Amino acid sequence: MKIDFAKASFKDFENIANCSIQQRADIHYEFLQYMKKNGHLNYRLLGSSGCGPIIKLENEDSSGSEKYISLVSNDYLGFTQHPKVKEASIRTIEQYGTGAGASPLIGGYYSYHKEIEDTLCEFFNRPPGSAIIYNTGYTANSSSLMSLLQKEDIAIVDMGVHASVYEGVQLTNTKRFLHNNLDDLERILKMVQHGYRTKLIIIDGVYSQDGDMAKLPEIYQLSRRYGALIMVDDAHGIGVIGDKGKGVLQHFGMMDKVDFITGTFSKTFANIGGFVVSNPHISAFLQYQSRQNAFSATSSPAVAGVTTAIKLLEEEPQWQAKLWDNINHLKAGLLDLGFDVGTSNSAIVPVKIGNPYKTSELGRILLEQGIYTNPILYPAVSKKDARIRMSIMATHTKEQLDKVLEGFEFSDKKLHIAKIKY
Ligand code: PMP
Repeated sequence: MKIDFAKASFKDFENIANCSIQQRADIHYEFLQYMKKNGHLNYRLLGSSGCGPIIKLENEDSSGSEKYISLVSNDYLGFTQHPKVKEASIRTIEQYGTGAGASPLIGGYYSYHKEIEDTLCEFFNRPPGSAIIYNTGYTANSSSLMSLLQKEDIAIVDMGVHASVYEGVQLTNTKRFLHNNLDDLERILKMVQHGYRTKLIIIDGVYSQDGDMAKLPEIYQLSRRYGALIMVDDAHGIGVIGDKGKGVLQHFGMMDKVDFITGTFSKTFANIGGFVVSNPHISAFLQYQSRQNAFSATSSPAVAGVTTAIKLLEEEPQWQAKLWDNINHLKAGLLDLGFDVGTSNSAIVPVKIGNPYKTSELGRILLEQGIYTNPILYPAVSKKDARIRMSIMATHTKEQLDKVLEGFEFSDKKLHIAKIKY
């Protein structure tokens, strides 16, 4: 089978008919080389400095490293470099060593894990025992859903949810509704209302590609009207949205309303891991029934920084304020230049292009100017929705953001992508 590389996306290489594993890998490799030759393989770039507003990238051509303004990190408040967060992780490694050595049921459950769970319960105002932590946000979603929903049940998911949710609902029935579209959601709820044991609506608090917020109050109303439960993944809302960064639920005054809250430690909490918050019996159920939790070693003591990061949201609100200054500054600048930032209302700012080739070109030209962004193409978004995605941090300076704006202005002279003129 011949694949036209000029029109191909990564999706085309998932499964190539009549090819062995090695043949598939060889064709895929050829595609990578093709992308690289065009300067469009803007992925897996090798960083050699810490996560932050400036990153050093190893440059294969000049065999040295160069500094770039980074808009690719979800460390929204800059806590990966916060002295108190680092100190907590280092202190806990000194005390406990570098690994936990076992899964939680058989010896790997330590006080630094429980401290995070207790702190999450306080943060979300739930009774003790309501939280369970996982090794990634991905497995918090995928593994909890695999054990919560079975053949008798149905997941009703917003089309914009993260890949981990799609993986988690493979063992149950699934209907997808158009992103944030209440009519489409109600249509599905009506259709399935008498047919299933449990109906679970799954949405994000803030969507990872568009940076927009869920219409949570309306979705909640619909969930109660049709007897459905609701799960909100607030990976990108926590730290960014709501008073003291408590997230989208707090923003809408619905902290105690939803049935499941999931999230990650890999963004505002500046570490690695994830969580599900519900109630104590469901947490206990997941402890024993959620396989990636029960059969996988717990996170290393370095995860202890998460407890400190959660508390810092309360103690140092200036980071969230600084983040919003930066978001507003960059967005206003992009709009002034005529770019389409869609419906973003968070620290994720897309610049919507549509054309995948121009999107890759924009990523390349920006990188040449020392600006590191993420070109997002199909299948991460639909074919007509290619965009550059940026994540803003509290620790970006105005000067850095102005350079980013200059970079977009310069690139537009070559690519002509700015559409909206005010
Ligand atoms: N949920 C959302 C909305 C995400 O964007 C991501 C990706 N980072 C995840 C979950 C997975 O989180 P993690 O990186 O902790 O696996």
